[in-house]
Amino acid sequence: MPLTTSGETTGKLRRLPAVHRLLDEPQIAGFVQLLGAAVVKTAIGSVLQAARKIGDGVELPSPAELIGAIVERLTVVESAELFEVINGTGVLLHTNLGRAPLADDALTGMATIGGGYSNLEFDLETGTRGSRYARVSSLLRQTTGAEDGLVVNNCAAAVLLILDTFARPVATAREVVVARNQLIEIGGGFRLPDVLRRSGATLVEVGATNRVYLADFERALGPNTALLLRSHTSNYRIDGFVADVEPAELAALGRRAGIPTVEDLGSGVLVDLAPYGLPHERTVQQAVADGIDLIAFSGDKLLGGPQAGIIVGRGVLVARLRANPLLRALRVDKTGLAALAATLRLYLEPSRLGQIPLYAMLAYSVVQLRARAERLSGELASVNAALSIVDSEAFVGGGALPLAGIASVALSIRPPASDPNRLAAALRRARPAVIGRVDGDAVLLDLRTIPPRHDPTVVRAVRAAFDR
Ligand SMILES: *Cc1c(COP(=O)(O)O)cnc(C)c1O
Repeated sequence: MPLTTSGETTGKLRRLPAVHRLLDEPQIAGFVQLLGAAVVKTAIGSVLQAARKIGDGVELPSPAELIGAIVERLTVVESAELFEVINGTGVLLHTNLGRAPLADDALTGMATIGGGYSNLEFDLETGTRGSRYARVSSLLRQTTGAEDGLVVNNCAAAVLLILDTFARPVATAREVVVARNQLIEIGGGFRLPDVLRRSGATLVEVGATNRVYLADFERALGPNTALLLRSHTSNYRIDGFVADVEPAELAALGRRAGIPTVEDLGSGVLVDLAPYGLPHERTVQQAVADGIDLIAFSGDKLLGGPQAGIIVGRGVLVARLRANPLLRALRVDKTGLAALAATLRLYLEPSRLGQIPLYAMLAYSVVQLRARAERLSGELASVNAALSIVDSEAFVGGGALPLAGIASVALSIRPPASDPNRLAAALRRARPAVIGRVDGDAVLLDLRTIPPRHDPTVVRAVRAAFDR
Protein backbone atom coordinates (compact mmCIF):
# COMPACT_ATOMS: atom_id res chain seq x y z
CA MET A 1 0.00 0.00 0.00
CA PRO A 2 1.59 3.35 -0.99
CA LEU A 3 2.20 5.70 1.89
CA THR A 4 0.33 8.93 1.58
CA THR A 5 2.66 11.77 2.30
CA SER A 6 1.39 14.99 3.72
CA GLY A 7 2.91 18.38 3.02
CA GLU A 8 4.54 18.39 6.46
CA THR A 9 6.38 15.13 5.85
CA THR A 10 7.42 16.08 2.31
CA GLY A 11 8.98 19.24 3.68
CA LYS A 12 10.98 17.30 6.21
CA LEU A 13 12.18 14.77 3.67
CA ARG A 14 13.65 17.54 1.57
CA ARG A 15 15.99 18.28 4.46
CA LEU A 16 17.58 14.81 4.25
CA PRO A 17 21.17 15.19 3.03
CA ALA A 18 22.04 14.09 -0.51
CA VAL A 19 23.99 10.87 -1.11
CA HIS A 20 27.07 12.72 -2.41
CA ARG A 21 27.17 14.94 0.70
CA LEU A 22 27.15 11.91 2.98
CA LEU A 23 29.79 10.25 0.81
CA ASP A 24 32.12 13.18 1.60
CA GLU A 25 31.72 12.81 5.37
CA PRO A 26 35.19 11.81 6.64
CA GLN A 27 33.84 8.87 8.69
CA ILE A 28 32.08 7.48 5.65
CA ALA A 29 34.69 8.43 3.05
CA GLY A 30 37.18 6.18 4.88
CA PHE A 31 35.17 3.16 3.79
CA VAL A 32 35.31 4.02 0.08
CA GLN A 33 38.87 2.78 -0.29
CA LEU A 34 38.14 -0.41 1.67
CA LEU A 35 34.85 -1.40 0.09
CA GLY A 36 34.52 0.62 -3.11
CA ALA A 37 32.19 3.55 -3.80
CA ALA A 38 29.35 1.36 -5.05
CA VAL A 39 29.05 -0.58 -1.78
CA VAL A 40 29.22 2.63 0.28
CA LYS A 41 26.53 4.29 -1.87
CA THR A 42 24.26 1.29 -1.42
CA ALA A 43 24.63 1.50 2.36
CA ILE A 44 23.89 5.26 2.31
CA GLY A 45 20.89 4.58 0.05
CA SER A 46 19.37 2.02 2.38
CA VAL A 47 19.80 4.18 5.48
CA LEU A 48 18.19 7.16 3.67
CA GLN A 49 15.42 4.88 2.45
CA ALA A 50 14.67 3.85 6.03
CA ALA A 51 14.71 7.49 7.14
CA ARG A 52 12.14 8.39 4.47
CA LYS A 53 9.59 6.07 6.04
CA ILE A 54 8.68 8.60 8.68
CA GLY A 55 5.21 9.99 8.99
CA ASP A 56 3.74 13.24 10.32
CA GLY A 57 4.78 14.21 13.82
CA VAL A 58 7.96 12.12 13.79
CA GLU A 59 11.33 13.82 13.85
CA LEU A 60 13.84 13.19 11.04
CA PRO A 61 17.07 11.59 12.19
CA SER A 62 19.75 14.24 12.68
CA PRO A 63 22.74 14.27 10.29
CA ALA A 64 24.85 12.77 13.11
CA GLU A 65 22.31 9.96 13.59
CA LEU A 66 22.26 9.27 9.86
CA ILE A 67 26.06 9.16 9.68
CA GLY A 68 26.13 6.88 12.74
CA ALA A 69 23.66 4.47 11.14
CA ILE A 70 25.60 4.41 7.87
CA VAL A 71 28.91 3.82 9.65
CA GLU A 72 27.33 0.99 11.65
CA ARG A 73 26.06 -0.66 8.49
CA LEU A 74 29.41 -0.26 6.71
CA THR A 75 31.26 -1.64 9.73
CA VAL A 76 29.22 -4.83 9.54
CA VAL A 77 29.91 -5.13 5.79
CA GLU A 78 33.62 -4.44 6.28
CA SER A 79 34.05 -6.91 9.13
CA ALA A 80 32.98 -9.70 6.77
CA GLU A 81 35.99 -8.93 4.54
CA LEU A 82 39.37 -10.65 4.87
CA PHE A 83 41.86 -8.40 6.64
CA GLU A 84 44.90 -8.41 8.85
CA VAL A 85 44.58 -9.32 12.51
CA ILE A 86 47.04 -8.95 15.37
CA ASN A 87 47.09 -12.21 17.29
CA GLY A 88 47.35 -11.57 21.02
CA THR A 89 45.93 -14.98 21.96
CA GLY A 90 49.29 -16.65 22.53
CA VAL A 91 48.31 -19.50 20.21
CA LEU A 92 51.00 -19.55 17.53
CA LEU A 93 49.23 -21.71 14.95
CA HIS A 94 45.66 -20.51 15.30
CA THR A 95 43.65 -22.13 12.52
CA ASN A 96 40.91 -19.48 12.81
CA LEU A 97 43.54 -16.76 12.39
CA GLY A 98 45.23 -18.31 9.36
CA ARG A 99 47.89 -20.54 10.98
CA ALA A 100 51.54 -19.78 10.12
CA PRO A 101 52.56 -16.27 9.04
CA LEU A 102 54.94 -16.47 6.08
CA ALA A 103 58.63 -15.60 5.86
CA ASP A 104 59.68 -12.54 3.85
CA ASP A 105 61.32 -14.80 1.25
CA ALA A 106 58.05 -16.68 0.83
CA LEU A 107 56.12 -13.43 0.38
CA THR A 108 58.63 -12.18 -2.18
CA GLY A 109 58.37 -15.48 -4.04
CA MET A 110 54.58 -15.27 -4.08
CA ALA A 111 54.62 -11.69 -5.36
CA THR A 112 57.17 -12.37 -8.10
CA ILE A 113 55.66 -15.63 -9.32
CA GLY A 114 52.06 -14.54 -8.79
CA GLY A 115 52.53 -11.15 -10.44
CA GLY A 116 53.84 -12.50 -13.72
CA TYR A 117 54.53 -15.55 -15.83
CA SER A 118 56.89 -18.26 -14.67
CA ASN A 119 58.45 -21.56 -15.73
CA LEU A 120 55.84 -23.30 -13.55
CA GLU A 121 55.37 -26.16 -16.01
CA PHE A 122 57.95 -25.22 -18.61
CA ASP A 123 61.41 -26.67 -19.13
CA LEU A 124 63.70 -23.80 -20.11
CA GLU A 125 66.41 -26.16 -21.41
CA THR A 126 64.25 -27.97 -23.93
CA GLY A 127 61.58 -25.31 -24.41
CA THR A 128 58.87 -27.90 -23.80
CA ARG A 129 56.44 -28.78 -21.07
CA GLY A 130 58.06 -29.39 -17.67
CA SER A 131 56.97 -30.65 -14.28
CA ARG A 132 55.08 -28.45 -11.84
CA TYR A 133 56.44 -30.49 -8.94
CA ALA A 134 60.09 -31.15 -9.86
CA ARG A 135 61.60 -28.16 -8.03
CA VAL A 136 59.69 -28.64 -4.80
CA SER A 137 60.32 -32.41 -4.93
CA SER A 138 64.04 -31.75 -5.04
CA LEU A 139 63.80 -29.42 -2.02
CA LEU A 140 61.71 -32.00 -0.16
CA ARG A 141 64.36 -34.66 -0.83
CA GLN A 142 67.07 -32.36 0.50
CA THR A 143 65.17 -31.27 3.61
CA THR A 144 63.62 -34.60 4.66
CA GLY A 145 66.01 -37.25 3.33
CA ALA A 146 63.13 -39.01 1.56
CA GLU A 147 63.52 -40.47 -1.94
CA ASP A 148 60.80 -38.29 -3.43
CA GLY A 149 58.06 -35.82 -2.57
CA LEU A 150 54.84 -34.30 -3.86
CA VAL A 151 52.63 -31.38 -2.83
CA VAL A 152 48.84 -30.99 -2.79
CA ASN A 153 46.39 -28.51 -1.26
CA ASN A 154 46.56 -29.54 2.38
CA CYS A 155 47.31 -32.53 4.57
CA ALA A 156 43.70 -33.73 4.40
CA ALA A 157 44.05 -33.87 0.60
CA ALA A 158 47.37 -35.69 0.97
CA VAL A 159 45.72 -38.43 3.06
CA LEU A 160 42.83 -38.61 0.60
CA LEU A 161 45.19 -38.98 -2.37
CA ILE A 162 47.12 -41.75 -0.63
CA LEU A 163 43.93 -43.65 0.26
CA ASP A 164 42.48 -43.20 -3.22
CA THR A 165 45.69 -44.44 -4.83
CA PHE A 166 46.30 -47.48 -2.65
CA ALA A 167 43.06 -48.38 -0.90
CA ARG A 168 40.21 -47.65 -3.34
CA PRO A 169 38.45 -50.96 -3.88
CA VAL A 170 38.73 -52.25 -7.44
CA ALA A 171 37.66 -55.89 -7.60
CA THR A 172 37.90 -56.63 -3.90
CA ALA A 173 37.69 -54.66 -0.69
CA ARG A 174 40.92 -52.85 0.23
CA GLU A 175 41.66 -52.79 3.95
CA VAL A 176 43.52 -50.11 5.87
CA VAL A 177 44.77 -51.24 9.26
CA VAL A 178 44.76 -48.54 11.98
CA ALA A 179 45.43 -48.80 15.71
CA ARG A 180 42.39 -48.00 17.88
CA ASN A 181 44.32 -45.38 19.81
CA GLN A 182 44.99 -43.38 16.64
CA LEU A 183 41.53 -43.03 15.11
CA ILE A 184 41.72 -39.27 15.24
CA GLU A 185 39.35 -36.41 14.67
CA ILE A 186 41.31 -33.20 14.21
CA GLY A 187 38.37 -30.81 13.79
CA GLY A 188 37.15 -29.02 10.72
CA GLY A 189 35.46 -32.22 9.59
CA PHE A 190 38.62 -34.34 9.35
CA ARG A 191 37.79 -37.63 11.03
CA LEU A 192 39.92 -40.57 10.07
CA PRO A 193 37.15 -43.22 10.06
CA ASP A 194 34.96 -40.96 7.90
CA VAL A 195 37.79 -40.06 5.52
CA LEU A 196 38.57 -43.76 5.12
CA ARG A 197 34.93 -44.59 4.42
CA ARG A 198 34.76 -41.79 1.84
CA SER A 199 37.75 -43.19 -0.01
CA GLY A 200 35.99 -46.55 -0.25
CA ALA A 201 38.61 -48.24 1.90
CA THR A 202 37.63 -50.68 4.61
CA LEU A 203 38.82 -49.68 8.04
CA VAL A 204 40.29 -52.46 10.13
CA GLU A 205 40.74 -51.29 13.71
CA VAL A 206 43.23 -53.18 15.82
CA GLY A 207 44.24 -53.19 19.47
CA ALA A 208 42.50 -51.60 22.43
CA THR A 209 41.97 -47.91 23.12
CA ASN A 210 44.91 -47.80 25.50
CA ARG A 211 47.13 -50.71 24.41
CA VAL A 212 48.14 -51.73 20.91
CA TYR A 213 50.80 -54.34 20.02
CA LEU A 214 52.58 -55.24 16.82
CA ALA A 215 50.89 -58.66 17.04
CA ASP A 216 47.54 -56.87 16.62
CA PHE A 217 48.71 -55.59 13.25
CA GLU A 218 50.20 -58.97 12.28
CA ARG A 219 46.92 -60.73 12.95
CA ALA A 220 45.04 -58.24 10.80
CA LEU A 221 47.14 -58.86 7.68
CA GLY A 222 45.31 -60.64 4.90
CA PRO A 223 44.95 -60.81 1.13
CA ASN A 224 42.97 -57.54 1.06
CA THR A 225 45.31 -55.48 3.24
CA ALA A 226 46.25 -52.35 1.30
CA LEU A 227 47.97 -50.12 3.86
CA LEU A 228 49.17 -49.95 7.44
CA LEU A 229 48.29 -46.46 8.65
CA ARG A 230 49.67 -44.48 11.58
CA SER A 231 48.39 -41.09 12.48
CA HIS A 232 49.70 -38.43 14.77
CA THR A 233 47.46 -37.97 17.79
CA SER A 234 47.90 -34.23 17.42
CA ASN A 235 45.26 -32.99 19.83
CA TYR A 236 45.04 -35.52 22.65
CA ARG A 237 47.15 -37.88 24.69
CA ILE A 238 46.33 -41.25 26.21
CA ASP A 239 48.09 -41.70 29.53
CA GLY A 240 48.27 -44.40 32.14
CA PHE A 241 48.25 -48.12 31.32
CA VAL A 242 49.31 -47.79 27.71
CA ALA A 243 51.31 -49.66 25.08
CA ASP A 244 52.09 -48.60 21.54
CA VAL A 245 53.78 -49.90 18.42
CA GLU A 246 57.08 -48.23 17.54
CA PRO A 247 56.89 -46.71 14.04
CA ALA A 248 60.07 -48.52 12.97
CA GLU A 249 58.54 -51.87 14.04
CA LEU A 250 55.44 -51.14 11.99
CA ALA A 251 57.57 -50.17 8.98
CA ALA A 252 59.55 -53.41 9.30
CA LEU A 253 56.32 -55.42 9.46
CA GLY A 254 55.06 -53.65 6.34
CA ARG A 255 58.28 -54.46 4.50
CA ARG A 256 58.14 -58.12 5.51
CA ALA A 257 54.51 -58.36 4.39
CA GLY A 258 54.94 -56.25 1.26
CA ILE A 259 52.33 -53.73 2.48
CA PRO A 260 53.12 -49.99 2.35
CA THR A 261 53.12 -48.11 5.66
CA VAL A 262 51.72 -44.60 5.79
CA GLU A 263 52.03 -41.98 8.51
CA ASP A 264 49.78 -38.94 8.77
CA LEU A 265 52.18 -36.73 10.72
CA GLY A 266 49.83 -33.74 10.76
CA SER A 267 52.03 -30.87 11.78
CA GLY A 268 55.23 -32.16 10.26
CA VAL A 269 58.20 -30.57 11.93
CA LEU A 270 61.66 -30.54 10.32
CA VAL A 271 63.70 -29.35 13.31
CA ASP A 272 64.18 -30.40 16.90
CA LEU A 273 61.87 -28.31 19.09
CA ALA A 274 63.78 -29.02 22.31
CA PRO A 275 65.93 -25.84 22.01
CA TYR A 276 62.66 -23.85 22.16
CA GLY A 277 61.82 -25.41 25.50
CA LEU A 278 59.24 -27.72 23.94
CA PRO A 279 59.03 -31.48 24.30
CA HIS A 280 60.65 -33.40 21.49
CA GLU A 281 58.25 -33.79 18.58
CA ARG A 282 58.79 -36.60 16.07
CA THR A 283 60.29 -35.06 12.93
CA VAL A 284 59.64 -35.90 9.30
CA GLN A 285 63.28 -37.01 8.99
CA GLN A 286 62.73 -39.49 11.83
CA ALA A 287 59.68 -40.96 10.11
CA VAL A 288 61.76 -41.34 6.94
CA ALA A 289 64.60 -42.95 8.90
CA ASP A 290 62.13 -45.31 10.59
CA GLY A 291 61.33 -46.65 7.13
CA ILE A 292 57.74 -45.37 6.86
CA ASP A 293 56.91 -45.57 3.14
CA LEU A 294 54.72 -42.49 2.76
CA ILE A 295 54.53 -39.54 5.16
CA ALA A 296 51.92 -36.78 4.93
CA PHE A 297 52.10 -33.41 6.71
CA SER A 298 50.85 -29.83 6.52
CA GLY A 299 52.68 -26.86 5.05
CA ASP A 300 51.16 -24.26 7.37
CA LYS A 301 51.63 -25.84 10.77
CA LEU A 302 55.09 -26.33 12.32
CA LEU A 303 56.73 -26.04 8.90
CA GLY A 304 55.77 -22.36 9.03
CA GLY A 305 54.87 -22.14 5.35
CA PRO A 306 51.79 -21.76 3.15
CA GLN A 307 48.73 -24.02 3.24
CA ALA A 308 49.86 -27.22 1.55
CA GLY A 309 49.79 -30.97 1.99
CA ILE A 310 53.20 -32.53 1.60
CA ILE A 311 53.82 -36.19 0.90
CA VAL A 312 57.32 -37.62 1.05
CA GLY A 313 58.52 -41.19 0.86
CA ARG A 314 59.55 -44.03 -1.37
CA GLY A 315 60.05 -43.11 -5.02
CA VAL A 316 57.97 -45.90 -6.56
CA LEU A 317 55.00 -45.07 -4.32
CA VAL A 318 55.22 -41.31 -4.88
CA ALA A 319 55.29 -42.08 -8.62
CA ARG A 320 51.96 -43.89 -8.24
CA LEU A 321 50.50 -40.88 -6.43
CA ARG A 322 51.74 -38.64 -9.23
CA ALA A 323 49.96 -40.84 -11.79
CA ASN A 324 46.59 -40.64 -9.98
CA PRO A 325 44.17 -38.43 -11.99
CA LEU A 326 42.80 -37.12 -8.67
CA LEU A 327 46.07 -35.19 -8.23
CA ARG A 328 44.80 -32.73 -10.83
CA ALA A 329 41.87 -31.82 -8.55
CA LEU A 330 44.12 -31.33 -5.53
CA ARG A 331 46.67 -29.24 -7.41
CA VAL A 332 48.46 -26.51 -5.50
CA ASP A 333 48.70 -23.06 -7.13
CA LYS A 334 51.85 -21.30 -8.30
CA THR A 335 51.99 -18.80 -5.44
CA GLY A 336 51.68 -21.60 -2.89
CA LEU A 337 54.47 -23.53 -4.59
CA ALA A 338 56.67 -20.42 -4.66
CA ALA A 339 56.06 -19.77 -0.96
CA LEU A 340 56.67 -23.40 -0.03
CA ALA A 341 59.92 -23.56 -2.00
CA ALA A 342 61.17 -20.34 -0.39
CA THR A 343 60.27 -21.64 3.08
CA LEU A 344 61.99 -25.00 2.50
CA ARG A 345 65.12 -23.21 1.29
CA LEU A 346 65.39 -21.51 4.68
CA TYR A 347 65.65 -24.97 6.29
CA LEU A 348 68.71 -25.72 4.17
CA GLU A 349 70.57 -22.98 6.09
CA PRO A 350 69.88 -23.50 9.80
CA SER A 351 71.15 -19.98 10.60
CA ARG A 352 68.18 -18.61 8.63
CA LEU A 353 65.49 -20.56 10.51
CA GLY A 354 64.65 -17.43 12.54
CA GLN A 355 63.44 -15.82 9.30
CA ILE A 356 60.41 -18.08 9.52
CA PRO A 357 58.05 -16.02 11.73
CA LEU A 358 56.90 -19.09 13.69
CA TYR A 359 60.48 -19.84 14.78
CA ALA A 360 61.19 -16.17 15.49
CA MET A 361 58.16 -16.12 17.82
CA LEU A 362 59.21 -19.38 19.50
CA ALA A 363 62.69 -17.95 20.06
CA TYR A 364 61.74 -14.74 21.93
CA SER A 365 63.03 -14.94 25.49
CA VAL A 366 60.72 -14.13 28.39
CA VAL A 367 63.09 -11.25 29.24
CA GLN A 368 62.56 -9.77 25.75
CA LEU A 369 58.80 -10.20 25.98
CA ARG A 370 58.73 -8.58 29.43
CA ALA A 371 60.72 -5.59 28.18
CA ARG A 372 58.22 -5.09 25.36
CA ALA A 373 55.28 -5.43 27.73
CA GLU A 374 56.81 -2.76 29.97
CA ARG A 375 57.28 -0.41 27.03
CA LEU A 376 53.69 -0.93 25.91
CA SER A 377 52.42 -0.42 29.43
CA GLY A 378 54.37 2.85 29.68
CA GLU A 379 52.95 4.13 26.42
CA LEU A 380 49.44 3.27 27.54
CA ALA A 381 49.77 4.87 30.99
CA SER A 382 47.19 7.52 30.05
CA VAL A 383 44.32 5.10 29.36
CA ASN A 384 41.69 4.67 32.02
CA ALA A 385 42.49 1.06 32.93
CA ALA A 386 44.59 -0.96 35.34
CA LEU A 387 47.59 -2.20 33.38
CA SER A 388 49.84 -4.95 34.58
CA ILE A 389 52.37 -7.37 33.18
CA VAL A 390 51.56 -10.98 33.87
CA ASP A 391 53.12 -14.38 33.26
CA SER A 392 51.32 -16.18 30.50
CA GLU A 393 51.45 -19.49 28.72
CA ALA A 394 51.55 -19.62 24.93
CA PHE A 395 50.67 -22.71 22.91
CA VAL A 396 51.77 -24.02 19.55
CA GLY A 397 48.19 -24.83 18.50
CA GLY A 398 47.10 -26.05 15.08
CA GLY A 399 46.79 -29.57 16.44
CA ALA A 400 50.42 -29.77 17.53
CA LEU A 401 51.78 -30.36 21.02
CA PRO A 402 48.37 -29.77 22.61
CA LEU A 403 49.59 -29.89 26.19
CA ALA A 404 52.92 -28.13 25.97
CA GLY A 405 52.77 -24.56 27.24
CA ILE A 406 55.52 -22.09 26.38
CA ALA A 407 56.46 -19.53 29.04
CA SER A 408 55.26 -16.15 27.86
CA VAL A 409 54.32 -12.65 28.99
CA ALA A 410 51.05 -10.79 28.54
CA LEU A 411 49.92 -7.23 28.99
CA SER A 412 46.83 -7.32 31.18
CA ILE A 413 44.32 -4.51 30.66
CA ARG A 414 41.57 -4.24 33.25
CA PRO A 415 38.97 -1.61 32.34
CA PRO A 416 37.44 0.17 35.40
CA ALA A 417 33.96 -1.11 36.22
CA SER A 418 33.51 -2.19 32.69
CA ASP A 419 33.06 -5.51 31.05
CA PRO A 420 36.34 -6.93 29.65
CA ASN A 421 34.26 -8.47 26.88
CA ARG A 422 33.34 -4.98 25.74
CA LEU A 423 37.01 -4.00 25.62
CA ALA A 424 37.83 -7.21 23.72
CA ALA A 425 35.06 -6.37 21.23
CA ALA A 426 36.35 -2.80 20.81
CA LEU A 427 39.85 -4.18 20.11
CA ARG A 428 38.38 -6.52 17.50
CA ARG A 429 36.87 -3.49 15.78
CA ALA A 430 40.31 -1.87 15.38
CA ARG A 431 42.03 -2.24 11.99
CA PRO A 432 44.10 -4.33 12.01
CA ALA A 433 41.85 -6.03 14.56
CA VAL A 434 43.53 -6.95 17.84
CA ILE A 435 42.48 -10.31 19.27
CA GLY A 436 43.09 -10.80 22.97
CA ARG A 437 42.11 -13.33 25.58
CA VAL A 438 39.55 -12.47 28.25
CA ASP A 439 40.72 -13.68 31.64
CA GLY A 440 38.55 -12.77 34.63
CA ASP A 441 37.94 -9.02 34.50
CA ALA A 442 40.90 -8.28 32.19
CA VAL A 443 41.88 -8.59 28.55
CA LEU A 444 45.27 -10.24 28.09
CA LEU A 445 47.47 -9.57 25.08
CA ASP A 446 50.13 -12.27 24.86
CA LEU A 447 53.28 -10.80 23.36
CA ARG A 448 54.73 -14.05 22.02
CA THR A 449 52.33 -14.07 19.08
CA ILE A 450 52.59 -10.33 18.38
CA PRO A 451 55.54 -9.42 16.16
CA PRO A 452 57.41 -6.40 17.68
CA ARG A 453 56.73 -4.35 14.54
CA HIS A 454 53.06 -4.38 15.55
CA ASP A 455 53.63 -2.86 19.00
CA PRO A 456 52.82 0.71 17.87
CA THR A 457 49.64 -0.57 16.21
CA VAL A 458 48.61 -2.29 19.44
CA VAL A 459 49.15 0.97 21.37
CA ARG A 460 46.99 2.86 18.88
CA ALA A 461 44.23 0.23 19.00
CA VAL A 462 44.10 0.16 22.81
CA ARG A 463 44.04 3.96 23.05
CA ALA A 464 41.25 4.11 20.46
CA ALA A 465 39.24 1.45 22.31
CA PHE A 466 39.21 3.70 25.40
CA ASP A 467 38.47 6.86 23.40
CA ARG A 468 35.14 5.55 22.16
C1 LIG B 1 46.19 -30.90 11.01
C2 LIG B 1 46.15 -32.32 10.71
C3 LIG B 1 45.64 -32.78 9.48
C4 LIG B 1 45.03 -31.87 8.46
O1 LIG B 1 45.96 -30.98 7.94
P1 LIG B 1 45.47 -29.81 6.95
O2 LIG B 1 46.73 -29.34 6.33
O3 LIG B 1 44.78 -28.82 7.81
O4 LIG B 1 44.54 -30.43 5.97
C5 LIG B 1 45.62 -34.13 9.25
N1 LIG B 1 46.10 -35.00 10.15
C6 LIG B 1 46.63 -34.59 11.33
C7 LIG B 1 47.17 -35.61 12.28
C8 LIG B 1 46.67 -33.24 11.65
O5 LIG B 1 47.18 -32.81 12.82
